[in-house]
Amino acid sequence: MKKRIFLSLTLITFLSTFIFNVFIAFFMYKQLTDQESVNLKSEASYISQVIENNFTSFSYDLDKFQTKNRITVISSLGDVLYDNLHEYTSMENHLYRPEIQSALKSGSGSDSRLSKTLGSQTFYYAQKLENDNILRISFTTSSIYSMIYNSMPTFLLMSIVFIFISLTLSKHLTNYIINPIHPSNPDIYDELLPFVKKIDSQQKYIDQQKYELEQRILEFDAISENIADGLILLDTNAHIISINEQAVKILGNTNLSYVSKPFINLTRIIKIQDCVKRAYKGELVDSTNQIRDNFYSFRFSPVMYDLEVLGVVVLIVDNTIQIQNDQLRREFSANVSHELKTPLTSISGYAELIKTGIVKPDDIVPFAEKICNETAHLIDLIEDIIKVSKLDESHESFDFSSINLKDLIDNIAYRLESFANKSNISIKLELFDVNINAVSSILNEIFYNLIENSIKYNKPSGNVLIKMSILNEYVVTEIVDTGIGIPHRAVSRIFERFYRADTSHSSEISGSGLGLSIVKNGINLHGGQIEVTSVENIGTTFKVFLKTSTDTL
Ligand code: ADP
Repeated sequence: MKKRIFLSLTLITFLSTFIFNVFIAFFMYKQLTDQESVNLKSEASYISQVIENNFTSFSYDLDKFQTKNRITVISSLGDVLYDNLHEYTSMENHLYRPEIQSALKSGSGSDSRLSKTLGSQTFYYAQKLENDNILRISFTTSSIYSMIYNSMPTFLLMSIVFIFISLTLSKHLTNYIINPIHPSNPDIYDELLPFVKKIDSQQKYIDQQKYELEQRILEFDAISENIADGLILLDTNAHIISINEQAVKILGNTNLSYVSKPFINLTRIIKIQDCVKRAYKGELVDSTNQIRDNFYSFRFSPVMYDLEVLGVVVLIVDNTIQIQNDQLRREFSANVSHELKTPLTSISGYAELIKTGIVKPDDIVPFAEKICNETAHLIDLIEDIIKVSKLDESHESFDFSSINLKDLIDNIAYRLESFANKSNISIKLELFDVNINAVSSILNEIFYNLIENSIKYNKPSGNVLIKMSILNEYVVTEIVDTGIGIPHRAVSRIFERFYRADTSHSSEISGSGLGLSIVKNGINLHGGQIEVTSVENIGTTFKVFLKTSTDTL
């Protein structure tokens, strides 16, 4: 308010200075020209007498006449007969000049004309003589425009001085008006006291509310930006009031701003748009959508007040892992059923045959042996399934302890020695003492599976080399075999559950296809990594990276 009063006063002073200056310029100009017109008339009347009393040559007398004005004598046909300032013989015809025309008609006439550059203005007075010639007196002065233009520097200087004075005065005047209204002033106008106090308390209340609101917005922004889920608030017209970074990442372009824009600018997925429409009808809508490679659960909640929808809150939760796990579980159950069914069908087949009594006594032993083998396979399978399921469960239940990896591998190699001997496979160990923090049974499972595979998928009289090295904080264990290898297309899939690479040799080798899946999950549990390189018919190398524990070596 103070600023406005101050500015208004300054503006008024400035404008009045300007108008006053222009007005003065006009007034002075008018005075000057009026005076000069009177002078022209009296000079014309005097000169006309001189001319009329002279019967020989008026030019001789007029040349001697002392005047600052221009004297011109023009014939009734417009020819210039005399001019005291210019060479009149070459002058153009003046018949149609306005002042000459009116002098011919009514005895006298006047006119004023601006020069082309507007720099000067000439005033003319014409009088008809007795011999019908016209006497014209004229004088030239600066035009009003050039007067104003010439007075510009003065005007500017005056304006600056006035503005300076008006600024100082306006400031004082503003303080004089405003200070008695300000609540902090003890000399407040009595009439205004209750009013000003009320306004002051209301202002304080509004400031407080504004501060609290700003704090809430900050808190809301902080919460909404830090939650892992996407959150969008829409107003009554489906325009975005607020949207967090997560929601933009999921639906939009992170380089664009979507606040105050229609929701349709964010996504054009028809299914999502339909859900928003339903939410605006008051319905709570849940929907799952695949966007790029991920699956998201969307919840569209209408914000209701008095049975009217004021807006919609959209919550987006990334459910990719859950959905993928559900899918894996479904696949796993289907595979388990399939894998269990095969040996069970075989067992039940042989048992049925024995039960009917049609089996020859000599066949009973081989049949029983087949039943035993299938049962052993079934038990292995079930054990593997239990191990996989255990690794899927919460990792908190596992017991970690410091384990000497060399001892663990030595022991496994010893246990598998007779199995290797059957195919005349030699196992070479290049190990050193190193401790890792691990779950003993799972670590055992990891290396047992890998070493067993290196023997199982080896060629007769092949080799297996198990060697250790240290890379930063990791102990790297390589299991290198000279076996059948893994086809290039299968390498990326061998860690999948129940996956078995299809090669000419592998069909005779028994297995569940769960071993490497247990290995992979087990290594993940220990925060390690596994790499595989393989060339068909040449051999395979598995590299296991596990973190050494602090009490190592
Ligand atoms: P399985 O019970 O069939 O051995 P795994 O999960 O241990 O199941 O292995 C999955 C598949 O990976 C195997 O069927 C086999 O085709 C391939 N594989 C694993 N280890 C080796 C290896 N050392 N050499 C060649 N192929 C291997």
